[in-house]
Amino acid sequence: SAAQDPTALVQALLREDLRGQSAYGAPQLDVPVRLNTNENSYDVPDDVVDAVTDAVARTARHLNRYPDREFVALRSALASYLTGQTGVTLTAEQVWAANGSNEVLQHLVQAFGGPGRTALGFTPAYSMHPIIARTMGTTWVDGLRGAPSGTFDLTPGSAAEQVRRHRPHVVFLCSPNNPTGTALGLDVVRAVLDAAPTSLVVVDEAYAEFARPGTPSAVTLLEDHPLLVVTRTMSKAFALAGARVGYLAGAAELLDALRLVRLPYHLSDPTQAVALAALEHHPSLLRTVEAIKEQRDRIVAELDTLGYPPVPSDANFVLFGGLADAPSTWRALLDAGVLVRDVGLPGYLRVTAGTPAETDAFLAAVSGLPDSHR
Ligand code: PMP
Repeated sequence: SAAQDPTALVQALLREDLRGQSAYGAPQLDVPVRLNTNENSYDVPDDVVDAVTDAVARTARHLNRYPDREFVALRSALASYLTGQTGVTLTAEQVWAANGSNEVLQHLVQAFGGPGRTALGFTPAYSMHPIIARTMGTTWVDGLRGAPSGTFDLTPGSAAEQVRRHRPHVVFLCSPNNPTGTALGLDVVRAVLDAAPTSLVVVDEAYAEFARPGTPSAVTLLEDHPLLVVTRTMSKAFALAGARVGYLAGAAELLDALRLVRLPYHLSDPTQAVALAALEHHPSLLRTVEAIKEQRDRIVAELDTLGYPPVPSDANFVLFGGLADAPSTWRALLDAGVLVRDVGLPGYLRVTAGTPAETDAFLAAVSGLPDSHR
């Protein structure tokens, strides 16, 4: 009977605001060249494999106990890494971490968003920002990039005007921006901070390590802005997507609010051990960053020559346009063994920069496309 139909029962019980929503779903396909989720294509190097293996082995005996709920050693290792990266002195009290920066973002929305509250982002940006906001019951406002230039650039004036108009509780900025690739100038971040002095301003810097020289981090603005947070991840430059470790820097007082919403012991002992061992070996892990940036710049240059205009990139991926029908080009590249990302922008696809061999395969597949794709 209808009452026994599981789909109908679930739909009837599901929160009204979740009905008809679709889940995050980047395909995980078994193809030779996977360039669709901006992972680091390089395996973890031997010295780090050894250090991680030893560190995890040492946790095994004491897995009967809960992990350090405050992950103090990890927070202080992340603080020194960020201090070294940005030149801004940070302490463990100013750093928070969770299972991927997605969970960090979720903690922020749980504490500062929610029913009756509004979050604003500038589309196209990271697709999880609206998903996380909405699943926590937050009203999402799709802000615009590009006005008035018609590109994906976000100007300080346009960002500030949109913030003043919508008066959101939470503002998401993404720099370098996924999926467009370009970093924001700090003038944009400053304009948003000035326009929203009582809002939480999140700058998602998941791809910061890949930025072109001279791109300052929003970490440099933390001192004067207690409601600013900068999120980062070990999933990209650190080649540790499988470990699920993301983090943020912000005011100690703000981080205290995250303790209200996180689940107790959210970072397992093995997770903390992996991240700590990796941070101790960060020069070895980050050695691939320069090689990846070279491939990124090569992809930009070649796509330009091939007539598929690329968007300038500070990340480990490139958004390119000029496509007559992005979904059919996505399919044609997949048939050639290369998985890229259709981010839902008409005429555009996104490709991750990986190894030289992966770039070769991608560029060969693009060169092989019939002219009808343009
Ligand atoms: N922010 C941005 C901009 C991203 O592109 C991603 C991963 N695609 C994340 C955050 C989340 O990554 P993770 O949860 O692995 O840290």
